Amino acid sequence: MDAAFTLDLPTLVVARVVSVMVFAIAVPIMTLRRNRPETAIFCWSLVMAIVTWVALISAVATDSLLVTAIFAFCISATVALQWASIVVLTGRKVHLAWFVGPPIVAFLSVLAFRADSSGATLLSGIVLSIQLAIASIFVAVHGSRVVRRSTALLMSAGYAISFCSAILRPFQQLVLGEVNAYALSSGIENTLPFIGSYVGTTLIILSWLAALKDKAEARLGDMAFRDELTGLANRRAMLEQGRKLWRSSHWQGTSFSMVAIDLDNFKRINDRWGHDEGDRVLAAFGAAVLSATPEPALAARMGGEEFCLVYVGVDARTAHDFTERLRDSFAESLSLPDSTPVRFSAGIAQSGSADDGIASVYRRADDALYQAKASGRDCAVISTALAA
Ligand code: GH3
Ligand code: MG
Ligand code: MG
Repeated sequence: MDAAFTLDLPTLVVARVVSVMVFAIAVPIMTLRRNRPETAIFCWSLVMAIVTWVALISAVATDSLLVTAIFAFCISATVALQWASIVVLTGRKVHLAWFVGPPIVAFLSVLAFRADSSGATLLSGIVLSIQLAIASIFVAVHGSRVVRRSTALLMSAGYAISFCSAILRPFQQLVLGEVNAYALSSGIENTLPFIGSYVGTTLIILSWLAALKDKAEARLGDMAFRDELTGLANRRAMLEQGRKLWRSSHWQGTSFSMVAIDLDNFKRINDRWGHDEGDRVLAAFGAAVLSATPEPALAARMGGEEFCLVYVGVDARTAHDFTERLRDSFAESLSLPDSTPVRFSAGIAQSGSADDGIASVYRRADDALYQAKASGRDCAVISTALAA
């Protein structure tokens, strides 16, 4: 091959160290937020990556056992920190032993075996490979629950590629015989694992940024479509998702029922016990709806103390039974400071052939709710009116 195309290992090392430094400076600037432990841990892993390179270069230069052991600790700690940040991102608890254990094992095993440079590479390579394999599987299994599937797959692939490059040297040593891993030769046995880990690390960092973006988008989506106080959908979500549910049940010919609910004499609760107590009642109603069985296909707070439930594949009669069940569980779950229960009135309407969308069904449910209020409250009325 022409000399101009030879992969020169020292050049690759310099390029790699520079890129790690760029990531370690740029990523914290882009991602660091107070009260986000996962970004802080990930940024620390980038700092640890720089320390790892310093340790590696020192280990090669000094040939010292202790510095080699420190390098083994650092590289394992870098992956441990990255993995900890992913575990926190998925909302799980970090078990300290899993993250402190591997770096300590890598450090001690280099010292215990008084490993020379190739022995140290073998030991730390094995610990590192196990960590990377676990991280790759963990992200593939749990990642898509919190970020987009493509992001999780990209990150898992990053760890899988890093795993392949980390296992390559122990494999070469054990299967093919001795390889001097620290030799600055540009042979394929040295450049291949190097390039592999380069690609793997870059994928991991890029997919980490994508994961943060996915989480932020999911949070914004949640804020746009969820009512904070009750945890139910908001009016906008009811109009958008309700329309979709109505359309699909219309095409499939399944029944579609809507329940309009209004808490009774709610203003008195606010007046007597204060706005905070009123908020507590609203939150308790949201919790009762969310734990109801069967859960409605869609449940929204339409505003104030008014709610709307959608049941798909359920006729008005059955929706009435579900509403009465909800009445019982809500009454059991909450009472005011003077032990009086909070009641609600409901109107129920089932979509008919003359309905052309959720608006007309909801209007009839609302009319039935008005009748329930007029007939003394604390009851549910089924609309008998036909769609206009
Ligand atoms: P009715 O049985 O006829 O429905 O009587 P009501 O008192 O429930 O109805 P009304 O419409 O007179 O009062 C609704 C009250 O709900 C008035 C408003 O102050 C209160 N409200 C609206 N939104 C909130 C909220 O987010 N928190 C609290 N605490 N109160 C709210
Ligand atoms: Mg009202
Ligand atoms: Mg009311």
